[in-house]
Amino acid sequence: MLANIRIVLVETSHPGNIGAIARAMKNMALTELYLVKPKTFPSADATARASGADDVLASAVVCDTLNEAIADCEVVMGASARDRTIGWPTLLAKQCAQQAVQDAQTNQVALVFGRENSGLTNAELDSCQYLIRIPCNKDFSSLNLAAAVQVFTYELYSEANQKAVEQVSPESEPLATSTQIEGFYQHLQETLTAIDFIQSGQSNSVMRRLRRLYSRSRLSTREVDILRGILRMSQGSKE
Ligand code: SAH
Repeated sequence: MLANIRIVLVETSHPGNIGAIARAMKNMALTELYLVKPKTFPSADATARASGADDVLASAVVCDTLNEAIADCEVVMGASARDRTIGWPTLLAKQCAQQAVQDAQTNQVALVFGRENSGLTNAELDSCQYLIRIPCNKDFSSLNLAAAVQVFTYELYSEANQKAVEQVSPESEPLATSTQIEGFYQHLQETLTAIDFIQSGQSNSVMRRLRRLYSRSRLSTREVDILRGILRMSQGSKE
């Protein structure tokens, strides 16, 4: 199950953090590391801090965009120390692990972590169905990036070990991937613009609310096909 869970790091500045994360992952039996535009990689600092988890570093996938790193994922969770003004459904670390391990039985799952100095942007969180958070001192809530990954990977490991002895029924229909969901949002935005429900350029807040709405319902591939069929018909195409 843990093989279907990837750690995605967005624009990490300090290579030492990448190394420490590789080590934390290997300690907790995770192997899938994705790096979106790392500042310096590969690097001797990362290798030194990995302390033997060189295989995790060597197989790390370097991507240009977050969308590329999560393209084949059905479940995407964004880690943030801050509460955001618009309500993303939030899971605390333990709940995150329960959901992720359950979903990973039949899906690819991504846990996405932000930059050391500025975290994840709201646009990046738009690609996530859940915001995930480590509960801690509300007056000092930002952990070091590698420490934050360590907490989540520990919870994943504990949960997976417990799950190994439980019987869990898988989802009845395959969930849509991130690429399929993004294709649907793009199509929805085009249609809403075409029918003058939103104006191009002023559509961010409506689109963000619609993303929240749809991501709460965990769309399957079939449901995305149906929704896109409705969009096509509503624009007069019978194809
Ligand atoms: N200064 C940044 C925080 C950077 S910490 C900010 O204000 O957003 C780097 C990353 O570690 C964050 O983007 C997040 O992914 C993770 N992180 C740190 N503390 C966390 C916490 N309490 N809960 C969840 N993720 C956390």
